[in-house]
Amino acid sequence: MRPNKEKHHNWKGGKLEDAKGYILIHKSLLTQDEINRVNLCKGHYVREHRLEMVRKLGRPIEDGKVVHHIDKNPKNNNQDNLVEVSKYEHRVLHRNDRKHSYGIFRSVTLEAEKS
Ligand SMILES: [Zn+2]
Repeated sequence: MRPNKEKHHNWKGGKLEDAKGYILIHKSLLTQDEINRVNLCKGHYVREHRLEMVRKLGRPIEDGKVVHHIDKNPKNNNQDNLVEVSKYEHRVLHRNDRKHSYGIFRSVTLEAEKS
């Protein structure tokens, strides 16, 4: 039996990419426990890197902390590439990005401040 959602015209296996290059994953692919832990949701989608971080940690992401991609590739959501850091640490980690690509640095920082 295939899930009904596969018939939906927008259904692409439950994954989308948002404007910032993050991968979004449909809630129907998560357990209720995972949905509760990720807690930052965009409609029916959650950000895959936050989901993978929660799976790796086995607990919710701490308040005030964000998920950083070690190789700075927002599409590499391998658990080994993800680390939970404070917003301050995150800014430090991306400090050197500024010289090369200020635009990316800015969007990452703004993202960190929102989440
Ligand atoms: Zn980062």
